[in-house]
Amino acid sequence: MTGFRPTVLSVSKQAIQHNVEQVRMLYRQHHQPNVKIFAVVKANGYGHGLLEVAEAALAAQVDYLAVATFDEALSIREKFEKIPILVLGASPVHAVPVAVEKEITLTVPSLKWLEAALIHQMPLKVHLKIDTGMNRIGLKTIDELEEVQALLQHSKWYVEGVFTHFSRADEKDRTWTDQQVERFEAFLQRLTKRPEIVHVSNSAATLLYPEYGYDAVRLGISLYGLSPSPEIAELLPVSLQKVGMLETEIVAMKRLGADEPLSYGGKYLSKEGEWIATLPIGYADGLKRGLTGQEVLVDGKRAPIVGTICMDQCLVLVPETVKVGTKVTLIGHQGQTEVTADEWAEKMQTINYEICTSLSQRVHRILVE
Ligand SMILES: *Cc1c(COP(=O)(O)O)cnc(C)c1O
Repeated sequence: MTGFRPTVLSVSKQAIQHNVEQVRMLYRQHHQPNVKIFAVVKANGYGHGLLEVAEAALAAQVDYLAVATFDEALSIREKFEKIPILVLGASPVHAVPVAVEKEITLTVPSLKWLEAALIHQMPLKVHLKIDTGMNRIGLKTIDELEEVQALLQHSKWYVEGVFTHFSRADEKDRTWTDQQVERFEAFLQRLTKRPEIVHVSNSAATLLYPEYGYDAVRLGISLYGLSPSPEIAELLPVSLQKVGMLETEIVAMKRLGADEPLSYGGKYLSKEGEWIATLPIGYADGLKRGLTGQEVLVDGKRAPIVGTICMDQCLVLVPETVKVGTKVTLIGHQGQTEVTADEWAEKMQTINYEICTSLSQRVHRILVE
């Protein structure tokens, strides 16, 4: 893609470095300086750009990259040769030979999958997924684990890791998370050999429960400087820096008379003398139609999006005329004023994860130092 469009997401390499360093510091304080850090870069690096984030995470010296799909792993491997990559989800069985060739670590999501995949007798590296309460993927019973171990014992596969995933670590009440760990421990007891990398924590658990660090932590949302939930935002023991800034530039400026209808459906009627700026960003970029009324930053001040958001453009009400070409910040700060992905999430009644992963491919990602 060329870079002519002013609508860009700038991705701060330094902020990623800072967030990784904050977690390292936390684990040093808790006397676990050797905890490995997995940077979770699935879903196009949580919308921040897969290769851009991978590059920044590598510069921050994370130990492993984690993705959701085998295709994401291949995209990273094309550009980065050395870094270990784990596919967290279930990969197609026919991906196994490619995984061996490209040195990509796969997850064993179920006994059934393993039975099918073991037709490939090759030195594949895997992590066993244990289901301790998500009821999504993973071995659910100790019996399943025993069968998996028996099958693997006579194979060429190498079990490097074992892990589980928390479903409620982003809540204040830790009861369920503690129960998940208890269940996970029962599985660990039954392993004939403890693998090199035992890991359970997503961002929320990484930050709230360092006692569950085991050998590695998996940083997703916190790598990008965002809180796993509004509920625990105040409890985080580190200060994170936001990584993504969504910006564009005004492409047109006009003054309207009274009662002029704006955009599709004419849902906003202007008042006499109102100044309206046109921005080259719309719902096809991830600025969902439900974000009408959301404020953006122009010249350090908040200005609301008015009228229906179009596919590629939207309109903003500004207090006075502003030069075409003026920078507009949709997510990020101008001086002391800030608009966050959390603010969008609240308006859209969703979570910041969905906001950042919804920024589409069309938005140019620029990795800045
Ligand atoms: C996405 C994902 C993570 C990262 O979760 P965050 O809450 O974003 O830190 C960790 N582990 C697994 C298995 C995941 O799917």
